[in-house]
Amino acid sequence: MSVRVRYAPSPTGNQHIGGVRTALINYLFAKSKGGSFILRLEDTDRRRYSPEYVQNLYDTFKWLGFYWDEGPDIGGPVGPYVQSERFELYRKYAEDLVRMDKAYYCFCDSDRLERLRQEQIATKKDEIGYDRHCRSISKEERDRNIAEGKPHVIRLKIPLDGVTVFHDELLGNIEWKNADISPDPVLLKSDGFPTYHLANIIDDHLMEITHVMRAQEWIPSAPLHRIIYDAFGWEMPELCHLPMVLGQDGHKLSKRHGATAVNEFRKAGYLPEALINYIALLGCSYEDGRDIYSLDELVGLFKIERLNKAPAVFDYQKLEWFNGQYIRQKSDEELSVLIHPYLIEAGLRSELDTAKDQMELAAMPLVKERLKFLTDAPAIMAYLYGRLDLPPVETYLPKKADAQDAAVFLEEDTRILQEFGLDDISSVEDKFRERALEMGKKLGDLLMPLRVAITYTRVSPPLFESMKILGLGESLDRIEKSIQYLRGA
Ligand code: GLU
Ligand code: ZN
Repeated sequence: MSVRVRYAPSPTGNQHIGGVRTALINYLFAKSKGGSFILRLEDTDRRRYSPEYVQNLYDTFKWLGFYWDEGPDIGGPVGPYVQSERFELYRKYAEDLVRMDKAYYCFCDSDRLERLRQEQIATKKDEIGYDRHCRSISKEERDRNIAEGKPHVIRLKIPLDGVTVFHDELLGNIEWKNADISPDPVLLKSDGFPTYHLANIIDDHLMEITHVMRAQEWIPSAPLHRIIYDAFGWEMPELCHLPMVLGQDGHKLSKRHGATAVNEFRKAGYLPEALINYIALLGCSYEDGRDIYSLDELVGLFKIERLNKAPAVFDYQKLEWFNGQYIRQKSDEELSVLIHPYLIEAGLRSELDTAKDQMELAAMPLVKERLKFLTDAPAIMAYLYGRLDLPPVETYLPKKADAQDAAVFLEEDTRILQEFGLDDISSVEDKFRERALEMGKKLGDLLMPLRVAITYTRVSPPLFESMKILGLGESLDRIEKSIQYLRGA
């Protein structure tokens, strides 16, 4: 039987690192086995549901660049892939369980349940929860209630004693006392809505899911699921509960630690490849001494045995490092396209401007090494657009020089540039070196005012390359402007 796995988010929030990691592991496992990766929307919680979250889900995975083989937006052989479109089915299966005496109608109204709860709290009973009252009502009472049209839920019969065992691919056999399972959980609510447990299991079964890989917080649901599978007489998929992702302080990763929503990372200038690569390594070891893997390489190497049992710690700095690595792997063409929206947003250029396109492309080799995030591009590149204010005079000054000295240096720089141009920048650089020697100055001192005149800062991308990109005319204009400025100081 071919492997079929699913990612089954509830659209009650934006996609976050934890969900994407679950999805990615499912994807890697499916693809490593030549199987299928399915998306199912578990949208039974209508109060917290929003269509925006569904859109965010689609956008996130399109951006990340790994996608499902079957799902609500692309269809497939076992749809619909949205639980709210499958309601009739759940009712039918829940009724089957009642007929098979594995589940029963409960007519208790909310008043009775609330009274029960208060009593349990008051008497400090160990067992908090439903008291199984309707499990033993007579058939007559039941039929009368139904005839009267009394609202009811359907509850699962949890065995009263014994244990339930399930197997986890990562954690081995896990045994739960049936007494520790919530007494007779609701499968179908009085409005006909299924609970998570019922819908999840019916869907996994009908969608022929072979492996359920999900977050470890779902372990307590697993014994209950085992009982439901057994009640139907269905085979349970293999289970694999994934280790948690923690922040550096050992608490579950949350907003307190930093960005957790994928669109925040996207806005902050992360590349999807970096995020995927880093997330794939969370709690999973591939080859020693190697960090950078493409999605295809990860597929080739993935094995459940490579997952760690211990929780993974999310390290934002490590992710930053990955981002820098992936930025440097981009070709100049790719990178200039990627930073484009950020330059527009910063007001440095408009959408269509071929001259700027060319200038930016030429600037990529100078900028690439300095980018940690795509969002760094506007600040690093702003000088190329020449829209900055001239910095304070001190910025121009080499050691032991004043504004007038700096202006003299700039005049000297102008002469050299006028004579030799910028066609061959390495020989022009030699001219500057010779000239510094003649003047009894350090090359760095001679170049400092020039660097500031051209790039507005003392620490900048390579100076001669920058001038070449700006062109001789623009470079000389900038120098002239700074000379005027320093003379007036
Ligand atoms: N809808 C559940 C969730 O939001 C799915 C859990 C599971 O994978 O079984 O995580
Ligand atoms: Zn009841």
